[in-house]
Amino acid sequence: MKNLNLAALALIGATLAGCQETEESRVLDQSLAHEETVYKPLDWAPIDVNSISKSGRTTASPYRLELVSAEYITAPESERAGQTVIFNDRGNKQLAYDFSPVAKLNGISDISYYVDQVRPGTDLDSPTKEAAIDRAAATWDGMNCSAFGLYKVAGLPLPIGVIAAQLGFPSIAGYIADINHAGWMPASFFDFVAEDGSQFILGVTFTLLLIDENGDYIDTNGDGKFDVGLREIYYNDNFYWGDGDLVDVETIALHEMGHGLSQGHFGKAFIKKEGTIQFAPRAVMNAAYTGVQTEIIGSDNGGHCSIWGNWPNQ
Ligand SMILES: [Zn+2]
Repeated sequence: MKNLNLAALALIGATLAGCQETEESRVLDQSLAHEETVYKPLDWAPIDVNSISKSGRTTASPYRLELVSAEYITAPESERAGQTVIFNDRGNKQLAYDFSPVAKLNGISDISYYVDQVRPGTDLDSPTKEAAIDRAAATWDGMNCSAFGLYKVAGLPLPIGVIAAQLGFPSIAGYIADINHAGWMPASFFDFVAEDGSQFILGVTFTLLLIDENGDYIDTNGDGKFDVGLREIYYNDNFYWGDGDLVDVETIALHEMGHGLSQGHFGKAFIKKEGTIQFAPRAVMNAAYTGVQTEIIGSDNGGHCSIWGNWPNQ
């Protein structure tokens, strides 16, 4: 059974309205608001990626992949802010990473993305969801400060995703694009990311770094950030997706695509007395869903431009 966002929201609102709380707002759980990075040990071997398609094939890369982090966005009624989960802690939880134009798995400096067509989940049809994800991608691509040559890899009738395969779901563990919107997954998938994650995670982006023959992260363009091999985005089918009061696909896709393009979370979370969550400042990269947001605003703009303004030169 899926989570009933609206019912839960109404219940929380009614409960809080009955309390004697007088403060305008209270800070969301301090530990979540200020320690947005958590460490979860993981014992996975380095991942080799296969060639999948002509348009998405890898070149003869000397590198393998290692899952380093997952960033997730939460449902508003959960009273949780999204977090960054670090799976491979090499002594620094503040690792920074981005794509390197000289260490791309397909040998092309332009950034590619892919949209799964075989895991559309149970709400809406695949073309409707794909169109929403395409609009979100186009929104980032339309930023004036950056030119990263975003292009879309054509869909295949196959489930593709390294992380899904690692977790035992039917999926091909391979590279298809730099940013793979890998579809809607059942609840159990999200319990891997966080305890009971299926109940509050709407979407998650995994970052897999390139490692060399010694198992070390690499920084081939010398920008002080380790080089990303690929990113995979998964959406939680345990929630209702759609227009209006349901979880809006384009809004979450815009957020996850932001992670795909190396942006982290931004903004401080508050819970207002009526039980709604609010961020300051409001941004696409806020760590919880607070309603439809399909345009890039203030801090999103600055974050994106600082990462991509000089691409492919550093
Ligand atoms: Zn996020």
